[in-house]
Amino acid sequence: MTEHDSDCLFCGIVSGEIPADMVHEDDEVVAFRDIAPRAPTHVLVIPRRHIADAQALTHADAAVLARLFGVVRKVADEAGLDRGYRVVTNVGPESGQTVFHLHFHLLGGRPMAWPPG
Ligand code: 5GP
Ligand code: ZN
Repeated sequence: MTEHDSDCLFCGIVSGEIPADMVHEDDEVVAFRDIAPRAPTHVLVIPRRHIADAQALTHADAAVLARLFGVVRKVADEAGLDRGYRVVTNVGPESGQTVFHLHFHLLGGRPMAWPPG
């Protein structure tokens, strides 16, 4: 199991080498504001451990997935997103994935169109 990929931007944020506007940190999960926000609230929720994307998840990751969504809910509650929000994870080049460390975009604070582009 790869814990840290020295070529990975988000592993750099987890380790503190790359600064980020943190909104949550615990032993398994980190959440920080997206550098190019697409909504009034745009937070990235990621595992500390390097996992490339949702395609790479296995049953062994069940616990960390539950933790990730627990942090999504906490950040949404703290941001007052009681009218709703969106959780997005891109997988692969056609989706627009640019950082290959699993992350859930938490977007809220404005009405969302459907389907996404
Ligand atoms: P993806 O395109 O892979 O789904 O999402 C990657 C996200 O990471 C993008 O929304 C992008 O704005 C964000 N991002 C890229 N580089 C940085 C950075 O250095 N710091 C932060 N906080 N966000 C970043
Ligand atoms: Zn990584």
